[in-house]
Amino acid sequence: MNQATPAFRFLARLTVAWFGFLAVAQANEPVYVPKAQHIKGPVYAIVGPLGQRSTANAGLNANYGFVITDSGVILIDSGASAHSAALLDKAIKQVTSKPVRWVLNTGSQDHRWLGNDYFARQGAQIHAMSATVQTQKAAAQQQIAGMTRFVGDQMKGTVPKHADQVHEGSEASLTLGGVAVQWVQTNAHYPGDTWIYLPAQSTVFTGDLVYVDRMLGVLPQSNVRQGDQAFARLRTLAPQQVVPGHGRVTDMAQAQKESGDYYRFLIDNVGAAARNMDPITDTLDKFAAPAQFKHLQNFDELHRANMNRVFVDFESNPQ
Ligand SMILES: [Zn+2]
Repeated sequence: MNQATPAFRFLARLTVAWFGFLAVAQANEPVYVPKAQHIKGPVYAIVGPLGQRSTANAGLNANYGFVITDSGVILIDSGASAHSAALLDKAIKQVTSKPVRWVLNTGSQDHRWLGNDYFARQGAQIHAMSATVQTQKAAAQQQIAGMTRFVGDQMKGTVPKHADQVHEGSEASLTLGGVAVQWVQTNAHYPGDTWIYLPAQSTVFTGDLVYVDRMLGVLPQSNVRQGDQAFARLRTLAPQQVVPGHGRVTDMAQAQKESGDYYRFLIDNVGAAARNMDPITDTLDKFAAPAQFKHLQNFDELHRANMNRVFVDFESNPQ
């Protein structure tokens, strides 16, 4: 008796599958729905979550911005895929019926530009600096593969599309729909990274030069010396509103404490030790737990690796 019938076995499998599904659903973060946050006048930000790329956040774990002009919307960064670009588009449509007419890429990381094609197909012009496009081109295939590992089917229909309006040089001044845009290269997180400053609104979109609330990442492609210089220049603008690459919309005081001071900390301590030819392990141990940065999210995962990269950078290029 109790020989399992095919129907029973089917039900048992279904039950196992259902509980498996529940376990996954409970472990997952809540689904992130992008929402416009008013900054000043025609300027809005869309602030993404601080965690890693996931299907729940559609790879939108970064900040975006848009400006509503008389002749259409300027969008700052286009999302991680066609799917996530449509989510950004929806958030914009909650605020204005005007179409996105211009997309500006502040950088070359996946979630800053893989949505370009979506907006281009709706008629938007895509703008980027030529150094940004260069980095995008070198990274595109790897980024699509990497993002697919994080978000799977959400990458379907995503085509890497580079700017059709490429700006040479390290700075550009544009007027789009009557709105003045000052665009400056920072080259901090990736070569060709930029910030976008709107002087009339005293608002800066820093790109990945500034992170708040979470630890800044120093990658093999990053350059803390250029980050430090760009940050010093950012201070001279004295922007009232700072939309960082990651973290809440803030002011220069928080940007200084959580990014500007961190560039200096790395250069003055870790860079100096490398120039001094101190042993690397002693140096990383000595500066392992700076009280002023320990509260930042992802500190434990990133700080030591950040120091390691800065040490190696200054060791091979002490100038
Ligand atoms: Zn970033």
